[in-house]
Amino acid sequence: MAIIGIDLGTTNSLATVFREGKPEIVSNALGNILTPSVAGLDDEGNVIVGESAKERLITHPDLTVAEFKRTMGTDKGYYLGQQLFTSQQLSSIVLKKIKNDAEKYLGEKVEEAVISVPAYFDDRMRSATKQAAELAGIKCERLVNEPSAAALAYLYDHGWKDGTYMVVDFGGGTLDVSIVDSFDQVMEIIAVAGDNQLGGKDFNDAIFNYFCAANGLLEGDLTAEHRAAVYRMAELTKIALSTNPFAVMSVIIDDKEYSVTLDNNMLIKIAHNVFERVHDPIRRVLKDSRMSIDELEDIILVGGSCRMPTIAAFIAKVTGKTPCTDIDPDTAIAIGAGVFAGIKSRNENFKDIVMTDICPFSLGVSILDNYTKDEIMSFIIQRNSMLPTSKVQSYCAVNNNQSQSRFDIFQGESIYPKNNIKLGTLVINYDPVNAGEHTADVRLTYDINGMLMVDVTSKDGVTESKILMGSSRLSQKEMEATKERLEKIKFADSENEEDKLLIARCERIIEETYSFERDVLIDRLMWFKAVVDRGNTVEKRKVRAQFKEFLDGIS
Ligand code: ADP
Ligand code: MG
Repeated sequence: MAIIGIDLGTTNSLATVFREGKPEIVSNALGNILTPSVAGLDDEGNVIVGESAKERLITHPDLTVAEFKRTMGTDKGYYLGQQLFTSQQLSSIVLKKIKNDAEKYLGEKVEEAVISVPAYFDDRMRSATKQAAELAGIKCERLVNEPSAAALAYLYDHGWKDGTYMVVDFGGGTLDVSIVDSFDQVMEIIAVAGDNQLGGKDFNDAIFNYFCAANGLLEGDLTAEHRAAVYRMAELTKIALSTNPFAVMSVIIDDKEYSVTLDNNMLIKIAHNVFERVHDPIRRVLKDSRMSIDELEDIILVGGSCRMPTIAAFIAKVTGKTPCTDIDPDTAIAIGAGVFAGIKSRNENFKDIVMTDICPFSLGVSILDNYTKDEIMSFIIQRNSMLPTSKVQSYCAVNNNQSQSRFDIFQGESIYPKNNIKLGTLVINYDPVNAGEHTADVRLTYDINGMLMVDVTSKDGVTESKILMGSSRLSQKEMEATKERLEKIKFADSENEEDKLLIARCERIIEETYSFERDVLIDRLMWFKAVVDRGNTVEKRKVRAQFKEFLDGIS
């Protein structure tokens, strides 16, 4: 029975396992490290996850969904064909796929996982993630903040030396910046800041817009397919610029070729505001942690967008410190989650290491302001407090002859409760008091597993307690029903996954291609499909290699 670490990303997911004393990257059924966090239905109505689903985003938009992690913990629904799914259910489908592939890779059952989540995830999003794991048949006792995982991977690689680090995690749609401290085998997150609306997609958008403007194309005039094709090329051009001094982006639309040449200086110019926005959380995290750059041992860059040399250079420029480059931005978080799995299973190598965490948001109760009588927040646990933490605050009566207090508990940073997330309510009764006299003490206890406990003790010494977070959002009955529904879903057979990917890829290319070349492609596709249908393994192996080479030659 293995415990694996999973980086469940908005754009890509991957897994690692801790075995023989070290974290090991798990390859998926296609032999790749990254599995795109994209789910869809194939032509037979079976669920597909990953690369083939991603290829079908353009050709089968109604049967494919992506980026659902953004709405984790909400009721937002996504259609896959006729069926409606929540982000949690789709995440559970991705997790199931990761689990199945990992079991195939390891040759043993996977029972448990440590899953990484963004530091800014609130309790709803965290519970939803844990439940997604449960729905996928995976036990998940611990989540790990993505930046903590990145720092764990760094420390694993560089030896557990004392020091304070900045972690910049720049993914497909989110940016997280954190300050992490490692001292005497104890790892602690000092502060986190981020922008959950900033990521690699913003560079794609900038290149997309530049391409359209340079070629006199109006976005609104493009068909959905053409838009998708231009967008796809924009991303590929961005990725090419990470290793080449310049890149030519060209797309054929209605038999006409449009193109533009880009270099990194141009990219910096057209995505100027994206770079600027990267600076904000860096400034904020330093301010929150009261740290200066000189006190940092190193800057750790993770997330696909940190592969851009322009990003590393920008961070070096604004901080005056060259970031570390020997950590693989794609796998660092999963490796950290794998190391965490090792710590959790009390592996020999980690027996002295303790992980601490911080509360990424403030918690408190609503009170009436003395002067305006407006409802305002009284914060009890401040954002970035080290976990576990337990804090108490005393409250007084507002009216004369008051014999009851109602405490609404909120999570969030706004001074006005109405802008924060309400977690629950506790009401307590006591012998009447006059305005200004002590009524009750409220204690909030937030533990390392994300469990929030509220104790209200009246002046008469009576205590009321409630667990507000960490308990399941769905009831046991709802969980059972959802589980049953998800179990009925048939996953596409992973035996033929590579064939399906090649077919999906060829279909996508056909949609994007210049008309006269289409016939050749269709011919090749049908030939390959016929071979797949015949099911002669030797023939298939030979033809598959040829077909792949043919497609590689095109795109
Ligand atoms: P997430 O954490 O959101 O799942 P990742 O960390 O996998 O995402 O990052 C995905 C983003 O990284 C995408 O926007 C992708 O375009 C970008 N990316 C991946 N490789 C490169 C590269 N070599 N150069 C620039 N951007 C890249
Ligand atoms: Mg990520």
